[in-house]
Amino acid sequence: MTEKKRVEQHPCYGEVHITTNPRARRIILRARAGFIEVTIPPYTTRKALNDALVKHGDKLLTQCRANSPQTIGPDYRIEREGFAFGLQPTDRGEFHIGYNSCESTLYYPASTTFNEPAMQEWLRRVRTTALRKIAQKHLPQRLAQLATQHGLTFSSVTLRDSHSRWGSCSSHRTISLSIYLQLLPPHLADYVMLHELCHTVEMNHGERFWKLLDSLTNGKAKQLRKELKGYKTDF
Ligand SMILES: [Zn+2]
Repeated sequence: MTEKKRVEQHPCYGEVHITTNPRARRIILRARAGFIEVTIPPYTTRKALNDALVKHGDKLLTQCRANSPQTIGPDYRIEREGFAFGLQPTDRGEFHIGYNSCESTLYYPASTTFNEPAMQEWLRRVRTTALRKIAQKHLPQRLAQLATQHGLTFSSVTLRDSHSRWGSCSSHRTISLSIYLQLLPPHLADYVMLHELCHTVEMNHGERFWKLLDSLTNGKAKQLRKELKGYKTDF
């Protein structure tokens, strides 16, 4: 027997993707972006499947919503200390972006239809462009400021559209920073920059590295590292 997949519409929980897996020993439910995924052993009754959905459905639905990217439309707004993005209608008949310190506004023509997938993809790219522009204005400047303050030097700084790493430092003392640092509370963005600046002196994460970083963060290096783990490079 092989895996069998089917998609059903549940009256309460919407789209449910059901996979019958001969190796499954019990019903497993997962929240995906916009739907619930269920893996069931063969010969699972409809009642058993429904009972499992009723028991866990509400919680899963909340997770599903959190997993799906939020639609960017007239009411969309993201507001962090280092970055804000919102939309405003314009009479000009074309899209344009306005900047004011850490705030960006996308002006849109009245005729815009927001719901099409291609439009959503374009809007997400515009949002990233706005973030990059604001990051370019603030991050290199802040890094230089912190370096001066602590008597450390780096050779250059580059900004990357990196979701996987907040920052890195090469053996040539080139520091890379993720533009998504701009979404963090400022004290955590500072922590990442101080972390990379410490690598200009100590290339590894040995005892001397943490001692140096502790001396620059009032002894809070490990605590800040833990706090940073709660944040994602996401909107
Ligand atoms: Zn490191």
